[in-house]
Amino acid sequence: MKYLSVNKESEPVTLKSAVFRNIAEDGGLYMPVTLPRMPDSFFRELPGKEIRDTAFEVISRFLKAEVPVSVIKEITREVFDFPVPLVQIYDNVYTLELFHGPTMAFKDFGARFMSRLMEYFNRGGRSVMKVIVATSGDTGSAVAAGFSGIPGVEVYVLFPRGRVSPLQQKQITTWGGNINAISIEGSFDDCQKLARRALADSDLNKGFTITSANSINLARLIPQSVYYFHAVAGLGEGGGAPCFSVPCGNLGNITAGMMAGKMGLRTGRFIAATNSNDTLPEYCRTASFSPRKPVSTISNAMDVGDPSNFPRLLQLSGNEHKVFCNAVWSSSFTDKQTLDAIIRVRDDTGYIMDPHGAVAFLGLEKYLKESGRGEVGIFLETAHPAKFTESLKGIADRIEMPPQLQMVIGREEKFTVLDNDWGSLKDYLMGST
Ligand SMILES: *Cc1c(COP(=O)(O)O)cnc(C)c1O
Repeated sequence: MKYLSVNKESEPVTLKSAVFRNIAEDGGLYMPVTLPRMPDSFFRELPGKEIRDTAFEVISRFLKAEVPVSVIKEITREVFDFPVPLVQIYDNVYTLELFHGPTMAFKDFGARFMSRLMEYFNRGGRSVMKVIVATSGDTGSAVAAGFSGIPGVEVYVLFPRGRVSPLQQKQITTWGGNINAISIEGSFDDCQKLARRALADSDLNKGFTITSANSINLARLIPQSVYYFHAVAGLGEGGGAPCFSVPCGNLGNITAGMMAGKMGLRTGRFIAATNSNDTLPEYCRTASFSPRKPVSTISNAMDVGDPSNFPRLLQLSGNEHKVFCNAVWSSSFTDKQTLDAIIRVRDDTGYIMDPHGAVAFLGLEKYLKESGRGEVGIFLETAHPAKFTESLKGIADRIEMPPQLQMVIGREEKFTVLDNDWGSLKDYLMGST
């Protein structure tokens, strides 16, 4: 399979090139030239299948021209080694818990897969690989966990100073070794701009292989499409075509879901739920896409004002506003609405949502009310609530701290603070190896 820029003004490339280059020469993001159709037999056998077997079948179709089957088997077995339960909350409302991985956010899927794939592609390579990643909270730790200790790789995690939760910061800054944590005096979008600048810098590219671990990297999206198939499998025979509500930031997760749809998965509408950073809902309303500065919210991993996967999402709908709106329904919710929903669902059912999942729950609830068709809906729980004890004070004080999080609490933080300034970052990246 070949991969092509969404701008379609450069040549199709291999997966390996797409993964290391991130951005095509014409400035566009890579997508598969065509998405593989999964055969009927795959869907017949889906209910009851283990997620790692589903992952192997789906991911093979993207990798098999370049990666031996035995390596694909090994990678999918390693990445999908934790449970992904579908939990029923109300009659027709389910949540897919994506937070049982090592850093307790769904970013673990993309980051672990990407690190193992890059490691395979880089085997025998001569130059040091520098992986740059901007994080709004959860990507940094997932990428750090994925790459920690991998020889020949230096990882640079850029995070916005004071805008990630204390626990998220611990998860980014306590690795040491080949993981370098850098706190930028700015927003997540500033971090993202700096990371993109690094990728394009000719001096850096001369000495090293520079690559990004953000969701502009196609390798992040491929494994994320897997759990949409797995969710439908969890509904069992005759589970129908559920709508999925996705808590959106950079729009990587929902792009992966729509890719699964193009691969033949039957779904209802996709619901793109956002916090007050409502660039996407506004696009749905007005057909105008206007990136802006992000505002800080309690669902901080979604504080994105200029979502980078938007061109991919649009391409999946033929670059047409109307087609897009038929496939995607979008709405935004305030912090107050989010906290109220967490309390309401806790009191109704005993289930504790994290602030990101709660935004998706609100999206699903509002959509189901408006559509009135009694559809089944699945909202994605993208992080464990224990990661957000500060925001959930007085609401969920007795959440048990899982061992993955317990572990980092006592560890010493180590990070560098840099101004939001390309010159300072460049010096830092050139200097350290
Ligand atoms: C990153 C993140 C999101 C947003 O996902 P995108 O793929 O960037 O849209 C939502 N929830 C959590 C917990 C996250 O870490």
